[in-house]
Amino acid sequence: MAYANLSREELSDIFADLTAQYDELKAKKLSLNMARGKPSAAQLELALGVLEALKARSEFANSNGDDCRNYGVWDGLPEMKKIFSDMIGVPASQIILGNNSSLNMMFEVISRGYSHGYNGCTPWCKLDKIKFLCPVPGYDRHFAVTEYYGFEMINIPMYPTGPDMDMIEALIKDDDSIKGIWCVPKYSNPTGITYSDETVRRFAALRPAAKDFKIMWDNAYCVHDLTDTPDTLLNIYDLCLANGTEDQIFIFASTSKISFPGAGVAALATSDNNIKDFKKHTLTQTIGPDKLNQLRHVLFLHDINGVHALMKGHRAILEPKFKLCELMLEENVGDLGIAEWNKPNGGYFISVDVLDGCAKRVVQLCKEAGVILTDAGATYPYGKDPHDSNIRLAPSFPPLSELEQAMEVFCVAIKLAAAEKLLAEK
Ligand code: PMP
Repeated sequence: MAYANLSREELSDIFADLTAQYDELKAKKLSLNMARGKPSAAQLELALGVLEALKARSEFANSNGDDCRNYGVWDGLPEMKKIFSDMIGVPASQIILGNNSSLNMMFEVISRGYSHGYNGCTPWCKLDKIKFLCPVPGYDRHFAVTEYYGFEMINIPMYPTGPDMDMIEALIKDDDSIKGIWCVPKYSNPTGITYSDETVRRFAALRPAAKDFKIMWDNAYCVHDLTDTPDTLLNIYDLCLANGTEDQIFIFASTSKISFPGAGVAALATSDNNIKDFKKHTLTQTIGPDKLNQLRHVLFLHDINGVHALMKGHRAILEPKFKLCELMLEENVGDLGIAEWNKPNGGYFISVDVLDGCAKRVVQLCKEAGVILTDAGATYPYGKDPHDSNIRLAPSFPPLSELEQAMEVFCVAIKLAAAEKLLAEK
């Protein structure tokens, strides 16, 4: 029965019962972490072949004859570009490979706009005010980049189809201080949704007042399916070409959650104009990327089929963890009217919305019982969730047995925080 329909006495009894359950869990002195979306040790084992690949190799030339042990090839190995091209559906000619982090490439795209500007426009550092659109809940590290540069961040609500496109179109139409938007279009961090075809079409057709507006299309979870009914995402690059808006789009991906986070290969795809700008920026910073890492990834993955085969291995480990979380939420809080959550077809997160004003309390209760969650508010710019209701669960890292214990604590904490709130209001 929904908590909201209970009498004060019924709720008081439940509260007493929950407090006893919580104290029992606390006495176990657990030490569990569900805070960040890191692959588990078992997943990392899947890619150990990356580390072996170069040992078996006696020569280090790529298909162009470049020696991967030496400087050069600023934009990366053609064979690795081809793999990314098949992952994100953009021609290899439009792809630049980076080093170990796509977030780093995103930072550099913003940095270049800040210091030198894009498309012949004034560098952002010379303007009084810069604004950036932030679909919420979203990825905290995106927001950290735009906060670092002092941009004003504007929350855009997320729906099951993606961000509120009416709001975006209305905002960018006349305001040329709005310079871009953060997007995780597939298996979004944290809501797990994939942008609908209509949403992608509307993104590709945007006509912002700012001529240097940039869509930061972070396709971090492009091959990270967890079910037999994976989501599909329209190809925004093709649509941008058809609309003549290709200078507006920067697409990002990496092998961080395919091979090794922090030791994978990152990629960026964009228009010729943007590549020209980015080339100058990159070649001033470095003489070239780590091509040996690219080469060993090529030798290990071979091609897109290798990527898909590896992702099946990840799925086998991840899927039971997501199922467990969903099952425990359903069984423990499913019919109480105090929490809602998504059931993603892929990605790394489950996004849980608890009663307004309860997210911080739930995270605190979990912490005091030895379970670390992502900070409440982290999924919003400036760490401020206006409803204090969203919590991001990252089920990947703990082994199943630990996950079960952590979810037990989490479910009791959701109920305790809700009962506390409703009792205070009765
Ligand atoms: N984008 C999103 C949406 C992510 O969730 C993450 C990492 N969890 C990243 C980017 C970071 O990717 P990288 O390791 O390539 O910097």
